[in-house]
Amino acid sequence: MSTAHTTASTSVLTGLARIVPDLEKLYKDVHAHPELSMQEKRTAALAADRLRAAGYEVTGGVGGTGVVGLLKNGDGATVMLRADMDALPVLEATGVDYASAVTAADEDGKTVPVMHACGHDMHVAWLIGAATLMAQQRDAWRGTLMAVFQPAEETAAGARAMIDDGLFQRFPKPDVILGQHVMVGPAGMIGGRVGAITSAADSFQIRLFGRGAHGSMPQASIDPVVMAASVVLRLQTIVSREIAASESAVVTVGALQAGTKENVIPDEAIIKLNVRTFDEGVRARVLAAIERIVNAEAAASGAPRAPEITPLDRYPLATNDADATEQVAGAFREHFSATRIREVGPASASEDFGSFGSEWGVPSVFWFVGGTDPDTYAQAKAANRLNDLPTNHNPKFLPVLHPTLETGVETLVVASQAWLA
Ligand code: ZN
Ligand code: ZN
Repeated sequence: MSTAHTTASTSVLTGLARIVPDLEKLYKDVHAHPELSMQEKRTAALAADRLRAAGYEVTGGVGGTGVVGLLKNGDGATVMLRADMDALPVLEATGVDYASAVTAADEDGKTVPVMHACGHDMHVAWLIGAATLMAQQRDAWRGTLMAVFQPAEETAAGARAMIDDGLFQRFPKPDVILGQHVMVGPAGMIGGRVGAITSAADSFQIRLFGRGAHGSMPQASIDPVVMAASVVLRLQTIVSREIAASESAVVTVGALQAGTKENVIPDEAIIKLNVRTFDEGVRARVLAAIERIVNAEAAASGAPRAPEITPLDRYPLATNDADATEQVAGAFREHFSATRIREVGPASASEDFGSFGSEWGVPSVFWFVGGTDPDTYAQAKAANRLNDLPTNHNPKFLPVLHPTLETGVETLVVASQAWLA
């Protein structure tokens, strides 16, 4: 697992085996008690207690439920480690004995099942593990460690809320910001790259206006159903006809609603769509094309009013700084065997992690840790059925405990030590 010679990271990690049973318990506890975005009170209290017990200066309630722990250990660099804490309105179907049976009221007051279907419970356990080990081995490093537990990643609101609550004014500016995500991939594998690592995401609601009429008298209507159908089909031409083969983008219409009854032509239709891009130029072109198509289709139908295009949530592009990524990759290569490190393409998933670095003007690095049983992964790969494995957000998404738990603690310690050792 590690190289033969003793490095400062390995000396911090000598305590890992000793804390794993406790971390496993903690992970299962968080998994069984998931909390929706901006409701992460229990999880935040748990993280704050652990940090305080390890000797960190702890500030809670940053941007809602956010927690910041500072461990000052002499002169040196400041490293910020970030974990997100929120779960999703998903009914868990993993069948494990630590599965969630939790329900909660969502933003609209509706009762929904709650599950850690994105693995943020693993992220919480990893950061608590790394923060604990670094505190136990203060002789092995110098500088400041800043552990940040962030709310509401799934709604793109958490990083924003912490920043708006004075994160940049109230805490020391780090030299680097590090984060990680558990994903489908052989457990124990680490994937990363320089440049774009997760996509920019933009969501919109589009309201199309027509004129309602009796279903038997289409001549008296301006049918928003037909208008919406044309918009949806024409939107497909953005990626297929306006984006080069060497570029990439995703345009997904995830909701399409109009009408109530077969013999009533409604007077409006709603479309909700989601866009993913990896380049600012491509993003600007795709968003402009959506606006152009929506307005032109409404005009083609003779719509009585221009469509309303309302932005929903937005995630910025997360970009890995070249020098900082090389520093992390070098430390990983020294600690892990080469077979465990893989260069990956950018994920079409999105993250608000990128906001911290881009808005604070601090280099940031984000990487992925595999959480799939290696045999299961190998069999799926051999059968060309990797897409059948439950992805993040699937009711059956469940990282295997080992070595996923250990790996994410090791990566955080090893990467931090590239600045602090
Ligand atoms: Zn997610
Ligand atoms: Zn996630």
